[in-house]
Amino acid sequence: MSHLLPRLDGAVADDDATLARFARDWGGLVHTRPSAVVRPAHTADVAAVLAFAADAGIAVAPRGTGHSAFGQSQAEAGIVLDLGGLRRVHPGQGTALVADGGATWRRVTDSALARGLTPEVLPDSLDLSVGGTLSVGGLGGASHRHGAQTDLVTELEVVTGAGEVVRCSAHENAALFDAVRAGLGQCGVITRATLALGRARGRVRRRKLYYRDLEAFLADQRTVVADERFDHVEGRALPDDSAASGGWSFRLDATTTFTLPTEANEDHEAAVRDGLSFDPETAEVAECGYGEFCDRMAPGAAAQRESGDWYRPHPWLTVLLPDDAVAEVVEHTLADLPGLGASGLVLLYPLRAERITTPLLRLPRGDREGTVWLFAVLDVADPHDPVALARRLEHHAEWYGRATAAGGTLYPSGALPHGTVDWTAHFGDAWERFEAARHRFDPAGVLAPGQRIFTAASRSRE
Ligand SMILES: Cc1cc2nc3c(=O)[nH]c(=O)nc-3n(C[C@H](O)[C@H](O)[C@H](O)COP(=O)(O)OP(=O)(O)OC[C@H]3O[C@@H](n4cnc5c(N)ncnc54)[C@H](O)[C@@H]3O)c2cc1C
Repeated sequence: MSHLLPRLDGAVADDDATLARFARDWGGLVHTRPSAVVRPAHTADVAAVLAFAADAGIAVAPRGTGHSAFGQSQAEAGIVLDLGGLRRVHPGQGTALVADGGATWRRVTDSALARGLTPEVLPDSLDLSVGGTLSVGGLGGASHRHGAQTDLVTELEVVTGAGEVVRCSAHENAALFDAVRAGLGQCGVITRATLALGRARGRVRRRKLYYRDLEAFLADQRTVVADERFDHVEGRALPDDSAASGGWSFRLDATTTFTLPTEANEDHEAAVRDGLSFDPETAEVAECGYGEFCDRMAPGAAAQRESGDWYRPHPWLTVLLPDDAVAEVVEHTLADLPGLGASGLVLLYPLRAERITTPLLRLPRGDREGTVWLFAVLDVADPHDPVALARRLEHHAEWYGRATAAGGTLYPSGALPHGTVDWTAHFGDAWERFEAARHRFDPAGVLAPGQRIFTAASRSRE
């Protein structure tokens, strides 16, 4: 197909090695081979490719850094747009910063920190792309204070599925702005994003606070996100044979940022621990620079590369749960979890629904107030044991069913077979608007087929 493509300043590849590389993503579970990989040099290249593809009816998958788990950034027999070609960070006005859609959060963070600023919400890994997290939402330990990354973006440059370059914000082309943020790449390719930044403080104090009891852990997490005593709050369930709580213990990761040493003294430490019921004997406290904290996943990632786990299949699943169902869903899910590999993780931490205003980021039961929970089982599978992998995916389907029956929603970056019917239920009262936006901004229905949201059948209804 490459000979049919329009003239581009960027690169086009259709050799076997490249097509095989882009037929895989970080999840390693879905393999669909494209016909060509285009690495655009600038926005005009993206526009030219999309205009061509819309005309020819060829599927196009935007791909940032390919960290999706289930083929979301793949396009069988289509074109993968490797946005690594658009990875620059540009100065913005005042405390803003403008990043290309394919820029990594690492580049954004480095550039912001050089100005004494920081993105208010960062994902755990800095190696994800700006367009990649903005297309799912972008949640992190600071989301209980600031919402999702999609709530902190003030303007986007988007190339629609028809190949038109459009600037959008809450005040200009708002329908496109709302269809693209957490829109899973269905209505346009984000080529530039203007990000609101906050002031960076130089150091952090990290606490790991341990619990044997799920209810006590949840209660303390509710307390600390309600009174905002920490800047960053995450949590984990940890396999623990000695624990009373069904083989699991729990860890609250609570971090404060500071500039002056006096802001992290003993009085402050006593105040932030006040009223919490963690085990004081096992609590851990450490200080480090803010930049090192932002990149805290790097040592674990390096260890996984060395052990090979990084390259094995990743059957990951993340859901958002309502507060009144979190204990039950988590307890059941952990009780029948078929093991957790050495580098597997279970994340469990609270968010404040009222801080998340992005329409397509679906919250539990449509709640827009109070505590909601991010619950993620992030495991590594043995590629030589397909039975265990199948069992794991079955378990995903079961606990996803339990989560949705309790009013929970999918955080749509994981490995879960999902078709149009599931997506219609997922988007709920936002579905009609989303579908209308898809038809308006991607009339040929070529964008991001790997998400399996809009089928050929739904396109043919136009
Ligand atoms: C190690 C790891 C850590 C993670 N940590 C977090 C976390 O802390 N918080 C969190 O919220 N998520 C996290 N995720 C999930 C992650 O945010 C999503 O998988 C995200 O889509 C990955 O970004 P990417 O650039 O790799 O996307 P890709 O896999 O390249 O693309 C994924 C999807 O995004 C769409 N897309 C990509 N770029 C664009 C663009 N420029 N315009 C329009 N659509 C686009 C594509 O269509 C595709 O559907 C993590 C994932 C991994 C593997």
